[in-house]
Amino acid sequence: MVEDSDVGEIVKVSGPLVVARNLPGPRMYDLVRVGDSRLMGEIIELRGDNVSVQVYEETGGLGPGDPVFPTGGALSVELGPGLIESIYDGVQRPLSAIREEYGNYIERGVDVPGLSRTREWEFKPSVEEGAEVRQGDILGTIQETAVAEHRVMVPRGVSGRVLEIRGGVHKVTDVVAVIGSDDKSVEVTLLQKWPVRNARPVKVKLAPTVPLITGQRVIDTFFPVAKGGTACVPGPFGSGKTVIQHQIAKWADADIILFIGCGERGNEMTEVLLEFPELIDPYSGEPLMKRTVLIANTSNMPVAAREASVYTGITIAEYYRDMGYSVALQADSTSRWAEALREISGRLEEMPGEEGFPAYLGTRLASFYERAGLVECECSGERRGSITVVGAVSPPGGDLSEPVTQATLRVVKVFWGLEDKLAFRRHFPAINWLVSYSLYLDEVEKEWARMVSPEFAKLRTDAMRLLQEESELQEIVRLIGIEALSPRERLAMESAKSVREDFLQQNAYDVTDSFSSLKKQFLLLRCVMAFEYAGSAAIEKGVEIRDVVASPVREEIAQAKFIPEDELDRIEELEKKVRDTMEEFSSRLEVKEALDLF
Ligand code: ADP
Ligand code: MG
Repeated sequence: MVEDSDVGEIVKVSGPLVVARNLPGPRMYDLVRVGDSRLMGEIIELRGDNVSVQVYEETGGLGPGDPVFPTGGALSVELGPGLIESIYDGVQRPLSAIREEYGNYIERGVDVPGLSRTREWEFKPSVEEGAEVRQGDILGTIQETAVAEHRVMVPRGVSGRVLEIRGGVHKVTDVVAVIGSDDKSVEVTLLQKWPVRNARPVKVKLAPTVPLITGQRVIDTFFPVAKGGTACVPGPFGSGKTVIQHQIAKWADADIILFIGCGERGNEMTEVLLEFPELIDPYSGEPLMKRTVLIANTSNMPVAAREASVYTGITIAEYYRDMGYSVALQADSTSRWAEALREISGRLEEMPGEEGFPAYLGTRLASFYERAGLVECECSGERRGSITVVGAVSPPGGDLSEPVTQATLRVVKVFWGLEDKLAFRRHFPAINWLVSYSLYLDEVEKEWARMVSPEFAKLRTDAMRLLQEESELQEIVRLIGIEALSPRERLAMESAKSVREDFLQQNAYDVTDSFSSLKKQFLLLRCVMAFEYAGSAAIEKGVEIRDVVASPVREEIAQAKFIPEDELDRIEELEKKVRDTMEEFSSRLEVKEALDLF
């Protein structure tokens, strides 16, 4: 029995949920320690004298009468240098450090801090003593990794004069600056804490307009996401959600990548853990981990940790955004997160909503995605940063009408709908071009004109129209047969096929094809569409459709995606060749007609 009045007492244990009473001064989302082994837990419900605690570790062995210790603080993450290259679990325990200390699996109650207390960092001040600073201002920098410069910011709520600034080598807990006035001052360390369930404040949110270049043609050209935007990628098992998320993590032109594996399947997470540290960043030539933070919930980790993982991830993302960086966050898959929410809600005996999910599923999802955005950072000068969030959704049986998909679609601005039919046909990425959409398209198209060419938007519109026309024509062909089509329509079918196979299909495992710059995407699409434009003109002049279709230049178009980035002029030449070939058909026809006159 517990006698100490400073601690609460367990009355009931139900899976990851513990009900306790007599806990002094309990508040929602306070962190507590449960049982004698002091397992980490978080208060998620207050009901009369009882509090419900979700426990981030296996609760086996706990029972009524065991103690519950308050900590007085909320579930928080540690922010500071050393986050990048880390691999954490859902409550920011570093998996590698744990492994070193305790062997291959996490012991319960293990307390390893998120940031190393012994590692040393070279801090270069960028302000001088006497300077006036306020929250968010940059005090100095640390080369966190070969590619990431850590900007040490004045913590929230702190402002005043820099009374002291200490450059040099420091551990995260060392004081690097003293800020305030002579009678009241604050010591600033490299380590700051932030409660994960609260969004970090920003000056103002702006509408995202600049595309996040992912190097994936169907995404960047057809359904782009803007930096600071939100996207979801729902699809049945095996349709390519994880590959898309990995491709974005590898190739996106973001400064910092946050990858959250929400326990999709144990082995998928293992893949991430094994594969990611090996990958090389194509932009910097450095290992990709040098700009990446991984959060991994393997399937044997408790559900509550999975529920927390998305908040841990987005809080770290916000911290780097506050430094003025563009951050891309992938969550694979938010369905596993929602299931964790459902399980806990069930244990709380809350009134279930659709398919057993709690009624607040929609609000929770919305408040997660709302933490994405392009912002003016909180500081005295001007600084912008962004978080782009891409969430995978795994609807059971691929049924998009299920609650998690529906609630997600209500908040995100981009929808990449994966289809198993396409995946079976090995059309990858299996994004269905007829149902997918991007609400950033108009803004992004304006950027294309600046970044690549004013011609780009028209090419995209025409290509999309061809794909739509194809699906209508396919219906006619199915009912009446190909003979029912006019030569112009036959050409449209062939051109649409080329858009699909030569442009949209992209092999993530081919060294060259895996990534296309925006310039290459433009040139490639222009080449594909040259066949359509020049082919139509030729047919108009009376050239036989079968001559156009059988032209060997089409094989060259099909191979164009394998032309490397440093030889893009070859795609430009090919485009000219396509037009020349079609014009030659017409002129040969003219010669023939002239001869026939004799
Ligand atoms: P999900 O996460 O939806 O269950 P995955 O992302 O694991 O599906 O993809 C399943 C398989 O589909 C991959 O192992 C791979 O063989 C294939 N695949 C998906 N996308 C691509 C792509 N862009 N290029 C080549 N193969 C792909
Ligand atoms: Mg997957």
